Amino acid sequence: MFSDEIKHYDWDETIRFINSRRARDVEDALTNEHPSVEDFMALISPAAVPYLEDMARLSRDITMRRFGKTISLYIPLYVSNACTNHCVYCGFNHHNPLTRTTLSMEQVKAECEAIRHLGPFENLLIVSGEYPTLNGVDYLEQVLHVARPYFNNLTIEVMPMKARDYERLTHSGLNGVVCFQETYNAARYGVYHPRGMKSIYQWRLDGFDRMGQAGVHKIGMGVLIGLEDWRADVTMMARHLSYLRRNYWRTRYSINFPRMCPAEGGYQPRVVMTDKELAQLTFAFRILDNDVDISYSTRERPEFRANMMKLGVTSMSAGSKTEPGGYVSTPDALEQFHVSDERTPLEVAAEISALGYDPVWKDWDKIFD
Ligand code: SF4
Repeated sequence: MFSDEIKHYDWDETIRFINSRRARDVEDALTNEHPSVEDFMALISPAAVPYLEDMARLSRDITMRRFGKTISLYIPLYVSNACTNHCVYCGFNHHNPLTRTTLSMEQVKAECEAIRHLGPFENLLIVSGEYPTLNGVDYLEQVLHVARPYFNNLTIEVMPMKARDYERLTHSGLNGVVCFQETYNAARYGVYHPRGMKSIYQWRLDGFDRMGQAGVHKIGMGVLIGLEDWRADVTMMARHLSYLRRNYWRTRYSINFPRMCPAEGGYQPRVVMTDKELAQLTFAFRILDNDVDISYSTRERPEFRANMMKLGVTSMSAGSKTEPGGYVSTPDALEQFHVSDERTPLEVAAEISALGYDPVWKDWDKIFD
């Protein structure tokens, strides 16, 4: 389990190592045919800032070779904002006195139909809060059955589960699982996740092993930028990804680095990552792992997404509504985070085409399941 491996890495030592990188380390990382996580640490370090253009070029060339001029499109479907967790940065946290909505199967069906009217999406990301008796495995299995006829590729972003539950859902059409560790800083994790199942750091961390053991086809991972030192957090994630690749080599992987927005309740990010830093991180990850799918959500502004599309990003969400029922109507339910790119999916696709890239609505077929 990765919880055993991560014990070999010290958080403060990781920061010291990154900050001790010099120009020579960056140059070595840029010429290394098989970059290591140590090279990655040089590429995200302050010493790499003067090399951003070299990094961008290398990242662009690798992405072009591995993915061609394509951007895969997906859309999230929020099915429930009921949650027993107390994440201090999230508007859905159990404390917040908001109207909780868990969609009925009729409502899920209506949302699927509304999404299909927005564009020819085949990649659906089903998102839910964590409330096992309301939106647990049985509920998700029903959602997958309802969504299956509408979409070829179904991914969930929900509570971490047992391996046998992931396996059960793969028989109902589940193709991918996304889970955010949020932060790998074990000492500080409890500050952000004081109560609920999510407060158990190791259960969440080892969830990725359980996905691998269950044979989930694609695993998505990420840290929430805004909690702890972002360079240390993404380094831990790079170590985690490298561990997963060694142990579950048949699985495909995607990564995402959402930058925190202030939530309902006014939580302010402790750490701010600039656009330039996010670009640097994106290049560094592409150079480290040529095949990983790098995803940007609608949290990011349209202009920035358009620039990064040519330099390393390979998938994007479009048209996102982050409240349950949001595609059929404009409900009272609170949205989980504010969307910066409010364009329609067809507008996003038109821009991708105008930039000389192919918007890819479908990159998986049910027949492969
Ligand atoms: S981040 Fe997820 S688990 Fe935490 S309160 Fe929000 S919906 Fe619940």
